[in-house]
Parts: sequence; C-alpha cells; structure tokens
Amino acid sequence: MLPALAACGMPGEQEAPSESAEPKGKAYYGYFDTVSYVYDYAGDSAERFSDRSAEVSHLLEEYHRLFDIYHEYAGLTNLCSLNKAAGGEALELDPRLIDFLQYARGMYDTTGGEMNVMLGAVLRLWHDCREAASDDPSNAAIPTEEALREAAAHTDIALLEIDAEKGTARIADPLASIDVGALGKGYAVERAAEYLEQEGAFGYVLNIGGNIRCIGTRTDGSGWVTAIRDPDPDAEDYALRIEISDTSCVTSGVYERFFSVNGTQYHHIIDKDTLFPAAYYGSLTVVTRDSGLADALSTALFCLPWEESAALAEALGVEALWIFPDGEQRMTDGFAAFIHE
Ligand code: ADP
Ligand code: MG
Repeated sequence: MLPALAACGMPGEQEAPSESAEPKGKAYYGYFDTVSYVYDYAGDSAERFSDRSAEVSHLLEEYHRLFDIYHEYAGLTNLCSLNKAAGGEALELDPRLIDFLQYARGMYDTTGGEMNVMLGAVLRLWHDCREAASDDPSNAAIPTEEALREAAAHTDIALLEIDAEKGTARIADPLASIDVGALGKGYAVERAAEYLEQEGAFGYVLNIGGNIRCIGTRTDGSGWVTAIRDPDPDAEDYALRIEISDTSCVTSGVYERFFSVNGTQYHHIIDKDTLFPAAYYGSLTVVTRDSGLADALSTALFCLPWEESAALAEALGVEALWIFPDGEQRMTDGFAAFIHE
C-alpha cells in the first residue's frame, strides 16, 4: 500500500488522506537516492495516470543522470564528466544542463553565496568522512581544519564557466568541483511539475524524498495536509501539520545524512564560513511554488543566523519555518496561515 501523502522532509512516514476517495499512487526507486511518489487525487483514468506518472519518472531519471556527480552514463556528458574535466577543456553539454547550471549560479547570487554549488571540494571531504564512518564507525573522524581550509580555496563560484551560446561549460580549477545536492532534486521536481501542468493535470502531488510539489488542489478545492518532522530525535509526534495546495514544501534537517564522532553528530549542510555543519537550526522548511527555489532556499536559509535568514525569506517572498535546536519554532506570517490543527 502506498503512503497517502508525503510528510515533509520525512519520506515514508505519512499522514492518512483526509478524504475518503482513494488516490492513485505510484512509487519509483533509484532517482536522487530516494523514493519518488506520484499521486493523482483528481480521478484520472488508470491509463492517463499511468502515462503521466511514467513521463514524470522518465523526466526524473533523465535529470538524475544529468546531475549525477558520482557516475557517468554511456553516451551522456553529465556533471560527473564536468568534474572529471575540471581544469581542462570546456565540455559540450545537454541544453537542459546548461539551463540548470545558469539557474544554480543565479541561486548563488540570490542566496548571497550561502548555497554555492562550487563548494564541491569541501563537501567531498565531509562526504568521504561520512562514508568512512558508515563503514567503520569506531574510527569515525571529521575532516581536519587544514584540509577544509585548503579545499575552501577552490570553491569560487566564478570557477564555473558557462558559455550558453556555445552550449559549453567548464570548471576552471582542477581542484574544484560541483555538487548540486542542495538544489538538483528540487529543480528536477519542478520540471516534472511543469510537464504535468502543461498536460493540464490538476490534483496531483509529487513527493520526491520529502520534496513535495502539489499541482493544483483536491477536487473540492482544499489542499493536502503534510506533516513536518520534529528534528528532536526523542519527539513522539510531528512538529506541526500544514495544509498546502499548488505549491512546494521542502525541508532541510540535521537528521538527514549525518554521522557521529565521539558522541557529536555531524550533518550534511555546510556553512561556507565555518566549513562545518551549520549550527543554527534543527530544521528549516520552505514553502513556495517553485520547487527548485524551495530546495535551494531550504539549504541557504539553514546556513544563516535568524535575522539574516528571516530577512532573506521576506525579501524573496517565500514562507518558512525555522525550528531551533531547543525546539523553538519561528515562522513567517504566511506559514502560520498554513497550519492545520
Ligand atoms: P537534502 O539532500 O536532504 O534534500 P538539502 O537540500 O539541504 O538536503 O541539500 C544538502 C546537500 O547539499 C548536501 O548533501 C550537499 O551535497 C549540498 N550542500 C551542503 N551544504 C551546501 C551549501 N552550503 N551550498 C551548496 N550545497 C550544499
Ligand atoms: Mg535544499
């Protein structure tokens, strides 16, 4: 049985639907390291739902391959290829990848550099320590300050050179690399949502590893209730529930992809200034229509102290929920309006 609706930031642990009509749902595995669910609450025919969900899966697969920094695929030049060619010649890339790279570079400016896809050299050090810790927890260690500082010298966004006219891109430093973990998934989800909207779909929900995108509303005009996880590992209930429609909801939290060293947990969202896991919040949720923006901002707002984070959310007109390490919740007024008692 498929879960009825996504819990934001908590794939797999879902709320029951608040209506009796059974939605149609389909799960796909293997994209973006997570499970992808497509739901139809609109009552489309089985054939139409099957066609639409298959195309969503196809799009996610294509973007997954293009954005993969760990594997290359026969006949495809992707971000892994771009990283391998760092310091060398520019590569001709799929136009969708050029568009995405421009978007990612734009998000650097939008977030004041907090979300930087050229942080790859630093992120790789943390990634390697996390993998090593998972293989051998008793010898878990964090990267040295020296290694982090050295890596940080190869993270300038200007090292990502894009020639949109020629359709080429290049990383100008052999020690630099791109990592799009902060926004690739959300961007791909938005492209899938775009396809569904062009198809005239209404009453669909995509949940790609907790990255939720609602297309339209339920047939009665109401939205969907989604639960936001409490980042406190001892919490017995969700932090809160919200009702949303025609928008995206993305959460970044300390409980994703972390490892422990001597009792301290290290998660995967890295503050560009300290080069350590950002320490301001337990989780951060963004609600805004564009899933790519929601994803990029869930990471960026997580890396900023409260006043700057709130100011950026306001300047960009997105709704957000900040859950602090002690459990305190702060939210934008628009976010408060989504709360479902
Ligand atoms: P999730 O992967 O759980 O959806 P995020 O959207 O917050 O979480 O993305 C976290 C990922 O983004 C990390 O695993 C890493 O690949 C990358 N990342 C971490 N910190 C930054 C940062 N400051 N700027 C850009 N990318 C980052
Ligand atoms: Mg993100």
